[in-house]
Amino acid sequence: MKLDQIKAFLFDMDGVLYDSMKNHATAWTAAVSAFGLSMTREEVYMNEGRTGAGTINELAQRAWGRNATEEEIEAIYKKKSDVFNTCPKTEEMEGAAEVLDKVKSRGLARLIVTGSGQKTLLERLNKSYPGHFTPEMMVTAFDVTQGKPWPEPYLKGLKKAGENIVRQGVAGYPDLLDETGSLLPEHAIVVENAPLGIQAAKAAGIFCIAVNTGPLPDKVLEEAGADMVLPSMKALAGIL
Ligand code: MG
Repeated sequence: MKLDQIKAFLFDMDGVLYDSMKNHATAWTAAVSAFGLSMTREEVYMNEGRTGAGTINELAQRAWGRNATEEEIEAIYKKKSDVFNTCPKTEEMEGAAEVLDKVKSRGLARLIVTGSGQKTLLERLNKSYPGHFTPEMMVTAFDVTQGKPWPEPYLKGLKKAGENIVRQGVAGYPDLLDETGSLLPEHAIVVENAPLGIQAAKAAGIFCIAVNTGPLPDKVLEEAGADMVLPSMKALAGIL
């Protein structure tokens, strides 16, 4: 990784900018069991990054041998969001503000690429990290048809990063973009915490720094393809 050729950092949200995975684990396990499905906390961590519908269909296939209906997906995801909102307040991840400030002070773009559709967190981003994220710099569950581990969310992130480079009129920008106007992957870095998110980043051809903020062993993140595994966002701030 050569930091001087990097133009944009693409940040996952849960487990990277928010210490939210504990609450997601509680919400998912409670919500799916209310509908006769089962999911362990470890499975929540292993499946992190999938869209809500993708996760629900995996569980439905396992329990019922079929995909969930649109109505079931809507009801289960609503229940999951409701339980999430009753959990203890999700805290900002320690060290994340420092990472964002360092990236900003290097003049690099910051984007969010998340599988989340959790409106409470998405709406909080500007309060938690003022001056970092605008809607045109965010890819969420509402923007993609195939969530992580598919590359689509990160490819959309590169597209938005490319559009931003054109808006900013960065010197020599045509050389930074491919023929569709997306930022070339070698000019971006992904920061992820989850195995499926790492797979998505690597499938999009992007250097991926994993921050291991959850209970999974480092080995799981390495095997998913992480180029570097760090113990925390604080540690990442320390090397930027
Ligand atoms: Mg995450």
